[in-house]
Amino acid sequence: MKSLVCSICRREIDEADAHSFTIAGGGSSRIAVGLYCSTVHRDMARAIGAILDAPLGASRAVRERRERIADELLAAWRRGVGPDPDDVLFAAEWAEAAGSNLLRASDASPQPAPAEVESAA
Ligand SMILES: [Zn+2]
Repeated sequence: MKSLVCSICRREIDEADAHSFTIAGGGSSRIAVGLYCSTVHRDMARAIGAILDAPLGASRAVRERRERIADELLAAWRRGVGPDPDDVLFAAEWAEAAGSNLLRASDASPQPAPAEVESAA
């Protein structure tokens, strides 16, 4: 039996207890990303993935900043501090939607920011 480790905390986990999530791959395929000891650590990975997934057309400087934020968040979370992963994911996804609207707006007429996203809670 191969031993699995959480991609966030490096703790060993049983395959039966492992959590994962998927992202869009090429075309309609989905790619499973990592294995996590808990839903909290899975959500941390999703949030970091959303930060690293810079919008198309983002400059190198934007990408480097996002990488730095992701590194610092991961370091904080591994120390047991830092913001709620759900909040980070929400902010990253909202920023992505806003960014893509801005990029579109730059070669078209101005568009409003994405409509207020109602909290699903
Ligand atoms: Zn973990």
